[in-house]
Amino acid sequence: MNIALLDILRCPFCGGRLELVVTMFHRATGDVIHDGILGCHCCIFPVVDGIPVLHLRADAIAARDHIDGGRPQLALRAMVGLEDDAQAEQFEAAASRPSSTYKEIVEALGPGFEGGYFLYRFSDPTFIVAHAVVRAVARTVLGGRRRAIDICGGSGHLTRALLDLSSPAPVLADLFFPKVWLARRFTAPGCDPVCCDGNSPMPFARGAFGYAMCSDAFQYIWTKRLFIGEMARLVDGATPGAVVVNHTHNQLTWSPSHGQPLSPAGYADLFETLPARIYGEAGLFAEVVADGSVDLGRHDSAEHVNGDPALTLVASSHPAVFGRHPAAPPPVTGEYRINPLYAVTDRDGVLELTLTFPDASYEDEYGACRQYLPDTATLHRTDLDRLRAGQSPAALDELLRRRVIVELPALYY
Ligand SMILES: [Zn+2]
Repeated sequence: MNIALLDILRCPFCGGRLELVVTMFHRATGDVIHDGILGCHCCIFPVVDGIPVLHLRADAIAARDHIDGGRPQLALRAMVGLEDDAQAEQFEAAASRPSSTYKEIVEALGPGFEGGYFLYRFSDPTFIVAHAVVRAVARTVLGGRRRAIDICGGSGHLTRALLDLSSPAPVLADLFFPKVWLARRFTAPGCDPVCCDGNSPMPFARGAFGYAMCSDAFQYIWTKRLFIGEMARLVDGATPGAVVVNHTHNQLTWSPSHGQPLSPAGYADLFETLPARIYGEAGLFAEVVADGSVDLGRHDSAEHVNGDPALTLVASSHPAVFGRHPAAPPPVTGEYRINPLYAVTDRDGVLELTLTFPDASYEDEYGACRQYLPDTATLHRTDLDRLRAGQSPAALDELLRRRVIVELPALYY
């Protein structure tokens, strides 16, 4: 972490500024702290492999003791959560190879780490709606001059959508250390990762951000009132900011991995200081599939939002937020790949693609992707090569629009 990040970090318990404790073990190069101990009025927290750990759970205490004892490698092991020596060595070997992919490091972290479907995340129906809303709102309130934060952002798949909009770089906050560690390396390179607890006061200064968001995680937060109050505090400044909650479940309907959701009326009651609107995700999804735009000027009826299993919450005093936003894709920084949901057969340079779901439960949860992913598609390998070389072959426009070809982080899999 750069020491400039200390300007916006605050202790989650006393609210005090944090400073590097120079009398304790630390490793730093110029303005960058690699490992060390941060202190406030009330306690001390470790910086592990450049990531501040601002909570007091058992892994953080163990890591802090290791840093204090001059054992940064063991502090990293404690935060990554690998107790078993063989597993830890496997992770460290994968982490030390510059050619390792995201997938290889996830596999080295063991089967308990990331179940599910990260390979397909960038074309999930849930993701494409959140991506469009994030781009629309963040672009409106940040203006390239303010900072964004992605809270409970996991391994940074949506933080990636903030990289060109946030200045300084976006902060990615999550309780799960290996996820933010992976994000910094692969999915959101350049972001500032912070390890903290979403059920506690957030370890940042009032008004440090213009945009705060939480995607596909809010239903798992128990302290919802505190969480929204904290998001509002983080964007409380002279210029109106915005708070966005993407894909939170609806207590009035059933959904897989339900969590502890509220009803739409319950969500509305959380916002005391900012005007908020609640949208049914289905309506936004239809617009995003049609032309990539989102209309946040809409007023979804109570009947409509009460019946939608997934909701989007947007709160802001910025008048331009609640309008229609055309598609605003980010610049290409990764690499174009054929969507991994397709099986590919190469017939003399003609690629025949067949949509193939990894299993029935994926199809159950994310089958709405059929609205943009065709069952089959064909393209010429030479066109794909030209696209990867920076050209724009017209034959691929439709396949890009329908996400048959996707832009993924470099070294994703
Ligand atoms: Zn403190």
